[in-house]
Amino acid sequence: MAMDNLYMQVYGCKRCQLWQGTKHAVPGEGPSNAKVMIVGQNPGAEEDETGRPFVGRAGKYLTKALFEYGIRREDLYITNIVKHTSPKNRKPYPAEVGACLPYLQEQIRLIQPQIIVLLGASAKETPRVAGIKYFEIVHPSAAMRFTKMREKFRKQITELSEQIRQTQQL
Ligand code: SF4
Repeated sequence: MAMDNLYMQVYGCKRCQLWQGTKHAVPGEGPSNAKVMIVGQNPGAEEDETGRPFVGRAGKYLTKALFEYGIRREDLYITNIVKHTSPKNRKPYPAEVGACLPYLQEQIRLIQPQIIVLLGASAKETPRVAGIKYFEIVHPSAAMRFTKMREKFRKQITELSEQIRQTQQL
């Protein structure tokens, strides 16, 4: 219920200008008792179209990579720091990140994940909470484009899946 309230606040939010010109807010999705949370920076065009996080090419790439290690998307809570897409998918400005960050902080407080996976630039902007294990990985869109990044991404996914498996056994 608390998460539903948070979603309603995001749907009506005008704390920054980003809501203008978007089709949908993208608050996040997944079980509210997920042990693992994945955090990206902001939604792209397909996410704006559907209102769902990580449904574009990069999201599908990540989902497939995790699935190869037996980790199902449905078991993860997936969200972004910034809940509305930005014009031409530009990087959100610091003021926009600052305006939206309280939603992510509240999601972390409600879900209390054991692991938070930070994708690409989101790593710098996400405040750390004591007691949670943070895992930074290359953004899947960079892994799709560059061989070196892809190799690094694959290694990180291998390590991450091992960490997740251990968490699931707890
Ligand atoms: S991006 Fe975040 S702070 Fe800005 S309007 Fe959307 S929900 Fe509100």
